[in-house]
Amino acid sequence: MIDHIHELAYIARQLEPDQAQRQRLLDQVVAYSQEYLNGIASSPANFPNQDGRGLYDSPISEDGIPIDKALALLKENVDQSGIAPTSGRFMGYIPGGALFPSALGDYLAAVANRYAGYYFAAPGAVRMENMLVSWMADITGYPATAAGNLTSGGSLANLLAIVTARDTRGISGDKIGRSVIYLTEHTHHCIDKAIHVTGLNGTIKRQVPVDTRYRLDAAALRRVIAADRAAGLNPFLVIASAGTTNTGSVDPLPDIADIAAQNDCWLHCDAAYGGFFILTPEGRQILTGLNLSDSLVMDPHKTLFLPYGTGALLVKDGAKLYESQNWDADYMQDAHDKLDELSPAELSPELTKHFRGLRLWLPLKLFGVAPFRAALSEKIHLARYFHQKLQESAGFEVGPEPDLSVVTYRYRPPRGDAEAFNQQLIKKIQQDGRLYFSSTQLDGRFTLRLAISSFRTHLEHIDEALDVLQSTAHHLLQNS
Ligand SMILES: *Cc1c(COP(=O)(O)O)cnc(C)c1O
Repeated sequence: MIDHIHELAYIARQLEPDQAQRQRLLDQVVAYSQEYLNGIASSPANFPNQDGRGLYDSPISEDGIPIDKALALLKENVDQSGIAPTSGRFMGYIPGGALFPSALGDYLAAVANRYAGYYFAAPGAVRMENMLVSWMADITGYPATAAGNLTSGGSLANLLAIVTARDTRGISGDKIGRSVIYLTEHTHHCIDKAIHVTGLNGTIKRQVPVDTRYRLDAAALRRVIAADRAAGLNPFLVIASAGTTNTGSVDPLPDIADIAAQNDCWLHCDAAYGGFFILTPEGRQILTGLNLSDSLVMDPHKTLFLPYGTGALLVKDGAKLYESQNWDADYMQDAHDKLDELSPAELSPELTKHFRGLRLWLPLKLFGVAPFRAALSEKIHLARYFHQKLQESAGFEVGPEPDLSVVTYRYRPPRGDAEAFNQQLIKKIQQDGRLYFSSTQLDGRFTLRLAISSFRTHLEHIDEALDVLQSTAHHLLQNS
């Protein structure tokens, strides 16, 4: 038996490279990442012709492969296929970029593998995450009673907000069918999914009209809620957006907060994209009233430029989040040393989780807040610049002046079908790959949008975007 154990251990020891082996692995990974990072400025924003299929030619098997082979597979099949969200020329959806120190934070978090679910297991890691949540509460104007959670993204953070609202307002059983949720057609679809996942599909969902700038019409909200109350229904949840994904529009938060308070509704604010603009003077104006919500979501992996994998939920009365998520299990009895810090496992459905605080803490500590503030302010001005330049550009019509950093626009061809023309225009640009923009439906029309929110996007990229749009539209016109 002992011999067999030794034999197994001999093979298993491959799992622990020694210092020299680690150094060789690090050298190659560092060289790869340096080459990647140096190449971002000149690389395309989209690799439309690579689909990653080559990975299947190297199946998972009993024996390992050397790191250089693994990196070659990664490069060809993963890093050079599809969209490159690291590119400053990527302006589709909501870009973020991916800060380098976050990669180092992930590396360090993985090396030490702190158990960040519970304070008793990793007091420093939990304090770090709580400190980041407090910082976010602070910048948004939430009080010290707030609690929150770093999630994997905005969708999960929104889900957790809706669970908290549901539990706080006791929406269950018979109550579901006569309870009402208010949102708009521009509310992010993850809210609809969250309503489904939380078992609230049976509630009544009222799509409140928006104004010409795609912001929730507060007077309409007041009327619908009054009508619902008169009909004996139970209005309980209002969803406001502080920066819709479609157009970047910010709902009138102070008016909505008034209405929600008067009607005893929970006000949730989805600021996944827009929230961090509160760091800027321009954003602070437009986001006035964000602190009047009962819960809010912001996505560090969007407008704090982190690599994907970090969203955040804040609940103003943190006890409500705790009451909804704190649970007991016999085998966790060691964990119940109620100390001065709440633990992520008591504030979310996750137990064992990624120590995602480190990827947020490290860049904030190394850079300080000032460069983030400047980068976000720069984005707002770049969006205004793009909006103005495109408006002056023959053939293009633009949407409203941007609230934040998303600009909507379309080309109006002198003849032919405008819908088809704009579809071709975006397809051609995406296929070309140098830059990447995306599209949406607005007022029932195919509409193009530019989202300027990567720390790597600067004035030269916006000028490039204007050039590419004009030349591609011109080319299409010539050939139509
Ligand atoms: C991106 C986004 C979400 C979803 O967040 P994920 O991080 O993609 O899960 C929700 N709401 C808004 C307004 C968003 O922009």
